[in-house]
Amino acid sequence: MSAEVRLCPGCGAPLQSTDPHARGYLPPEKWDDPRALCMRCFRMLHYGDPTAVRLSSEDFAEAMASLAKQKVVLLLVVDLLDVEAGLGISLPRGPHHPVLLVGNKEDLLPRSVRRERVVRWLERRAREFGLEPAEVLLLSAKRRRNLEALVAAMERFAGKFRTFAAVGVANAGKSTLLNALREVLAPSAPEVDAPPIPLTVSPFPGTTLSVVRLDLPGDLVLYDTPGALPASTIAPRLLPEELKILVPQEEIRPRVYQLRDPGQTIFLGGLVRVDFVSGPPQPLVVYASSRIRVHRTKLARADELYARHVGELLFPPARDRAERFALREQIPLHLSASPGKRDIAVGSVGWVVQHGQPGEFVVHVPEGVRVYVREAMV
Ligand code: GDP
Repeated sequence: MSAEVRLCPGCGAPLQSTDPHARGYLPPEKWDDPRALCMRCFRMLHYGDPTAVRLSSEDFAEAMASLAKQKVVLLLVVDLLDVEAGLGISLPRGPHHPVLLVGNKEDLLPRSVRRERVVRWLERRAREFGLEPAEVLLLSAKRRRNLEALVAAMERFAGKFRTFAAVGVANAGKSTLLNALREVLAPSAPEVDAPPIPLTVSPFPGTTLSVVRLDLPGDLVLYDTPGALPASTIAPRLLPEELKILVPQEEIRPRVYQLRDPGQTIFLGGLVRVDFVSGPPQPLVVYASSRIRVHRTKLARADELYARHVGELLFPPARDRAERFALREQIPLHLSASPGKRDIAVGSVGWVVQHGQPGEFVVHVPEGVRVYVREAMV
């Protein structure tokens, strides 16, 4: 084998032909094909099958350390269903690393929601997390919506910066966004070039394993980076069949629950439980994937219902993973009366809108998962 390191164009892993179970495996007979993908990307692309090789937190830290050494605009891609995890990641700071904040998966928000309002909300939320983004915008990488706003924002950096790196939590949509951007910025000329090899996009967090460099016309460089895997959010710990239910595929339809009396509980699958302990009647509105069952029951029956139905009615988690995802954190919320609506947000799952009445709640989530009470997003 030659000493030169070749990287998989799909995920950035160094290619190797010695260990089929390690990252970057390329069968020896495929080495002659300069466009060949590692076996994992190949399988993911053709069979939707992520093999056992997974990203680790060190991959993210290494990627950030390498970005810290250069002048690069950080395209901070934040999943609108997991905003706090996205804003909380540790990034290189300072004038050599301006942040262009991209709220992705805008297609999942109800159409009636004014996008401009969400942009301003995201701007305020970013500041609460100590970020000063140069610009903030919303788009849908998957549906190719509002990409032109991103391109225009990138052009405003021209002259000072030619290098951009998509950074964010695993599964925020970085690879999807860079593939979309490449289509816009370097539409391939079919008669000359073969179509570019797309970065591997998958519904399973942890697909991009190392920094992947894309060179575009005009000396423009785009980097895809491995995602962060914060413990505060749920998706990175789930299995594909659980993610299929958790991650919304289409516009979220809000579900309204009128809790007239205290002593009631709402389950979002088996991952979040919201107890209404005391206070005046509460209309609660759930924003989460329509595939997640929302189950309402009496507080007195909640433990029994969970024990009996976790992994079935209350899914995810799968039944045999219920112990791992047991709702061990019980977070009391003392909400005083407020003029505005607020969200009780749980990363990756979604949020529950509370209309500003005073109330005592207890939110149950798996260990390590953070619950945020915030000004309502929509
Ligand atoms: P990465 O880990 O940040 O590179 O994320 P990927 O690009 O692999 O995307 C993760 C998942 O999010 C995939 O299932 C994508 O199809 C999905 N996704 C990415 N962008 C969007 C979007 O704009 N809208 C929706 N609904 N899903 C998206």
